[in-house]
Amino acid sequence: MPSKELLFGTGGIPRSTKGTSSISGIKQIRELGLDCMELEFVQGVRMSEDGAKNVLKTANNEDVALSVHAPYYINLNSYEEEKLKASLERIYHAARIGSLCGAQSIVLHAGFYQKSSKKHTSESISKALKELTGQIRDEGIPAILRPETMGKRTQFGTLEEVLALSAEIEGVMPCLDFCHLHAREGKENSYSEFTRILSRVEESLGKEGLSNMHMHVAGVEYGINGEKKHLNLKESDLNYPELMKALKEFKARGRVILESPILEEDALMLRKLYNEI
Ligand SMILES: [Zn+2]
Repeated sequence: MPSKELLFGTGGIPRSTKGTSSISGIKQIRELGLDCMELEFVQGVRMSEDGAKNVLKTANNEDVALSVHAPYYINLNSYEEEKLKASLERIYHAARIGSLCGAQSIVLHAGFYQKSSKKHTSESISKALKELTGQIRDEGIPAILRPETMGKRTQFGTLEEVLALSAEIEGVMPCLDFCHLHAREGKENSYSEFTRILSRVEESLGKEGLSNMHMHVAGVEYGINGEKKHLNLKESDLNYPELMKALKEFKARGRVILESPILEEDALMLRKLYNEI
């Protein structure tokens, strides 16, 4: 669903949350005055259907928009049939429980090249995502699968790879992780590079590409092989003021999920910066 505005929130529950549940996290997002939260199913989907319905109720009451991060343990380019099946099952489960929570966007790390060519990897991942989006659609689950741009060079997920999948497959849209885009090659960190990225999104996906965005932002430490670890924005070299300017200039709509260690502090800081432009 295209959004009317740009929402800011945290990846996982805010650090200041009392308790550890998703429900207390959603209430804390409201307390902080933020807009959205990403449910981190990264170590596995451990939420029951009843639990998900309670999350939906709380999110509606508190007017907090939710998304889901699927488990990390996924490789849609696995050479082992069993592992591929398990990966598809994990994403499916994240989408099913996520949609019961009212989350439409399901972010995922698609896989690794291993010994495959980039072309072969893209084809395997595309085949897997076509199968999965078909199943999800057949079951009436209103999920959008969002392969993320990835920060390590061994991982599938350049901007072009993620845009190609999104253009090709109904029910697939990108998750643009700006710290990963930057860390992968040490580039993508200036106003002109940010606007080039947004232009590519529009060229590939049309207006909806910019009106229904899902983004991850954090500072990042990186080296020759790409991403090492996430940092707080002010302790990193990420040019986030220029990124906010580019998003404003392109009238980007959707969500910005902060994944830096201080989560909500950076989410509030970034939204303030964005609003002041
Ligand atoms: Zn991620």
